[in-house]
Amino acid sequence: MRAVDIIAKKRDGGELSAAEMDFFIQGFVRDEVADYQAAAWLMAVYLQGMSRQETVDLTMAMARSGQMLDLEEIAPFVVDKHSTGGVGDKTTIALAPLVTSAGLPVGKMSGRGLGHTGGTLDKLESIPGFQADITTAEFLAQLQTAGLVVCGQTDDLAPADGKLYALRDVTATVSCLPLIASSIMSKKIASGANAIVLDVKVGRGAFMKTKEEATALARLMVGIGQGVGRQVRAVLSDMNQPLGRAVGNALELKEALDTLHGHGPDEFLEHCLNVAGQMLILGGKAQDAEEARAILLDTLHSGRALAKFKEWIAAQGGDLAAVDDPSRLPQAAIVQDVPAPRTGYVAGIDALEVGLTAMLLDAGRAKKSDPIDHAVGVVLQAKIGDEVKRGEPLLTIHANNGHKLVQAREKLLAAYTWSEEPVQAPPLLYEIIQGD
Ligand code: URA
Repeated sequence: MRAVDIIAKKRDGGELSAAEMDFFIQGFVRDEVADYQAAAWLMAVYLQGMSRQETVDLTMAMARSGQMLDLEEIAPFVVDKHSTGGVGDKTTIALAPLVTSAGLPVGKMSGRGLGHTGGTLDKLESIPGFQADITTAEFLAQLQTAGLVVCGQTDDLAPADGKLYALRDVTATVSCLPLIASSIMSKKIASGANAIVLDVKVGRGAFMKTKEEATALARLMVGIGQGVGRQVRAVLSDMNQPLGRAVGNALELKEALDTLHGHGPDEFLEHCLNVAGQMLILGGKAQDAEEARAILLDTLHSGRALAKFKEWIAAQGGDLAAVDDPSRLPQAAIVQDVPAPRTGYVAGIDALEVGLTAMLLDAGRAKKSDPIDHAVGVVLQAKIGDEVKRGEPLLTIHANNGHKLVQAREKLLAAYTWSEEPVQAPPLLYEIIQGD
């Protein structure tokens, strides 16, 4: 086989075999296929698309490019979840202990924030001492003892993805469904879980702006999972406004902790119950969403989920004094309430603008190597549908820089739209996509 023939076949609209896909991807990882050949191939894929079978074969070739974890000896059934990324999305932090204390081990490799979307690891690292970067052996040991581990992706997990993504980024080939789906699913498959729930975000603050695009991506990823014998479901959830109230690392960590204490925002708990419920159904712990909800609420109200959260954080070196007393989490020097500029109903809160503002305050990074400030961010006091009177608190800014605070205030006020008439809050959940 020759890389040039595989590029030509794809350029001309042909369907690549599993063997051709494997030859190309493993060759690329070993530097036997040059970057310029991979770039040409990516553009051919972008323009010609891929069949379902090709996408499955590409996913498996990428998954096999590094270590494939086998969790069978560690736990009989492990579940994972993945969010396509949003603003204020701290779901994993509250959901994982709920699911584990309902009897299902959760082993998850997460990412860091990039651009306007936050990353779970950054949020967890606002707890002093928390170790996100652990070895594969430590991942497996903690999954066995605590039944719950969330850590950074090891270097040897689907290395083809990291290398291909870097090329996609500079060749205008990121926004291509089979490439996105295989990128996400190769990492999930290599990390070994039996079942995966995908939280596909839709709207202004999401990667997928429309329900049609999000549905197509969700269907493709569920199909890939099924094609390789994993149980996969996708939840299509709203990302037009931020999820919950807090946006910013320590602020989000605290909101997830409040939720485990039973006094977090209702809509955030609802979202966690929706996604966690699907995990329980796939793991055979509940027949349907109603039964799953009852089980999860019992783990919450009994305090078992909070106890599991503490066990998990302690296992990864986190200081429980900061969990018991959140005033020990990083705190911003300036905390300022912003009053509502008018009376009315909140009609919209542009999630993208809120995410970009959190970045401006230094909560997020523009480049992978940028440092972040764990303390800063925004807490929204009013969300879509709320009636607010002029002068009442609309939001609170946590900043470490006075100039940035002034800019943030302006941008956040502009992110709100208003109505004289009552407004219906958007649904949290649009659709659940299951396999064929
Ligand atoms: N997230 C990924 O992991 N890969 C993509 O290609 C896009 C989003």
